[in-house]
Amino acid sequence: MLTSANISIKLFNRKEEYMKKKEFKSSSKKLLNMMINSIYTNKEIFLRELLSNASDALDKLNYLALTDGSIDINRDEEEIDIIRDEKERILIIKDNGIGMNEEELEHNLGTIAESDSLRFKEDNKDQKSAEIIGQFGVGFYSAFMVAKKIEVLSRKYNEESGYLWESEGADGYTITKVDKKDIGTEIKIYLKDDTDDEKYSDYLEEHTIRNLVSKYSDYLRYPIKMEVSNSRLKDGSKDEYETVKETITLNSMTPLWKKDKKDITEDEYNNFYTDKFFDYEKPLRVIHTNVEGTVSYKSLMFIPSHAPFDYYYKDYKKGLELYTNGVLIMDKCEELLPDYYSFVKGVVDSSDLSLNISRETLQNDRHLVTIAKTLETKIHNELLDMLKNSYDDYKKFFTAFGSQIKYGVYNMYGMNKDKLKDLLIFYSAKKEDFITLEEYVNSLEKNQENIYYASGETIDKIKMLPQVEQVRNKNYDILYLTDYLDEFVINVLGEFNGKKFMNVSDSSLDLDTKEEKEALKKANDDNKEMLSFIKDALDGEVIDVRLTNKLTNHPVCLTTDGEISVEMQKVINAMPTDENVKAKMVLEINEKHKIVDKLKKLYKEDKDELKKYAKILYSSSRLIEGLSVDNPTEISNIICDLLS
Ligand code: ADP
Repeated sequence: MLTSANISIKLFNRKEEYMKKKEFKSSSKKLLNMMINSIYTNKEIFLRELLSNASDALDKLNYLALTDGSIDINRDEEEIDIIRDEKERILIIKDNGIGMNEEELEHNLGTIAESDSLRFKEDNKDQKSAEIIGQFGVGFYSAFMVAKKIEVLSRKYNEESGYLWESEGADGYTITKVDKKDIGTEIKIYLKDDTDDEKYSDYLEEHTIRNLVSKYSDYLRYPIKMEVSNSRLKDGSKDEYETVKETITLNSMTPLWKKDKKDITEDEYNNFYTDKFFDYEKPLRVIHTNVEGTVSYKSLMFIPSHAPFDYYYKDYKKGLELYTNGVLIMDKCEELLPDYYSFVKGVVDSSDLSLNISRETLQNDRHLVTIAKTLETKIHNELLDMLKNSYDDYKKFFTAFGSQIKYGVYNMYGMNKDKLKDLLIFYSAKKEDFITLEEYVNSLEKNQENIYYASGETIDKIKMLPQVEQVRNKNYDILYLTDYLDEFVINVLGEFNGKKFMNVSDSSLDLDTKEEKEALKKANDDNKEMLSFIKDALDGEVIDVRLTNKLTNHPVCLTTDGEISVEMQKVINAMPTDENVKAKMVLEINEKHKIVDKLKKLYKEDKDELKKYAKILYSSSRLIEGLSVDNPTEISNIICDLLS
């Protein structure tokens, strides 16, 4: 943001007009240099940016005219003109859209990365108006990649005078009050001098402009007009040609979503997506639909290949652009997407929605509900198709947006879990890759009753958990859960295709034969008093201390009783609430480990020493689980005592 404190204003006279020379804010300067040199690898996109701005300006004016009867517009005259002046090396992009006044020129073009869209939204809140395309506020500056100087001459609708904004790049800009006959904006690009590497004068060539318009801006809904030279037969002649100048419309003006699928190339879809939704990577999937029926609509949706930078921020707004009768009504119609598909970008165009709508009535529009339902099914099917047929893409998708799907399963007490569970993938110990729950259940071992899972911070840490050993020894697969949401999701699901989920750290995990069970029970009974003594020594930290046969090499492990696992305890307690949950921990000691003999001996001979052992064993079981030790100094002292 520019503030009067951080800009220097130099006033000087220029004929009878006043002119202000202002510097871009210093961070803006850096950004401008970055913009010019690195954000866009391809200089030619400057034209796309300016044409999109012109189209936005026309959209804004049309939108205001919907709600403000005093705005007199003639939609037939709305257009964008490209004028080439080869002699002066100037390219002009002109529109008769909403225009900008002095303040807006200052605000929109004086601050890089400042899009007026937000302000437009704010200003129109009371009128329950629609919203206009939200943007980054950097596109305009891309013109400096090819321009040594830019002039923006603009007059806002309903205002008397025009203003001229001029800038030669990072040094700053001036704004001058000038006469301007028509409403709208004219952008004059003074092209840079040609160099050995770059021929800027190409942008004055008719064919270059024609190619660029058809490559990037063909779908813009306003005519982009330019004077071109055409050769035609002279009147009355059969073989004599003459060159005539005529103004033609360069773009087809059919929005991409209205075109027939078979006439659209992959590049066109990708260009449309990257241009409209400001992504530098092409989408993973395109969903283009044309529905004719009780509610007719066309839609073009995209599944991005990565999360936008603001996706996991509170301010991120989901939604699809909504058009009706060629007018953009909302840039983010939230009702069209469920939260769990909030990553989907796209456009919906339907003439079945009434035009004079305020947002409130639109929200209740039953047509909208019908459209949203079918779109949801389309997105779901597309994701399933990706999962089945392009697994690598799906993994990429899931890395970016898996949390959203998981959140969808878990949210609202699992209301949508059945719709989403087939989209979940988890890391499989056996396959060493991600698998679906269906794949897990379809490849159960003989006699395997449960879907086993283990949680931890990383796959490597989980692999080392003592509890994992026993289950893997039976050749059962284990899902390794590393996302903090995973266990909540598993809890909400409860079961999958009749198979229950079972945490390998659950104290009720029971993989023993009858004989093994009996032997273990006897060992526990025989040492009942000693185990109870250890439990008391731990002073309420654990609800039980047991001997176990589930461990191979490790002396101890920590398991839990009941619904809250150690991982869930960590997640819940890390949340910024007052809630402090405690998993019911059980310390299990490996009955085959030689430590048991030592414990028995101490129980008989030196109970004080046994207390110290109990504390060390419990602390090591906590460390294995990734939990901290509450009393590190005490433990460290005990260890030193024992060592010395
Ligand atoms: P963005 O278009 O991403 O918002 P730009 O840097 O391209 O960012 O433009 C900044 C702002 O300047 C726009 O949001 C818009 O308000 C205004 N603007 C740019 N070009 C025009 C134009 N031709 N007519 C009216 N306003 C314009």
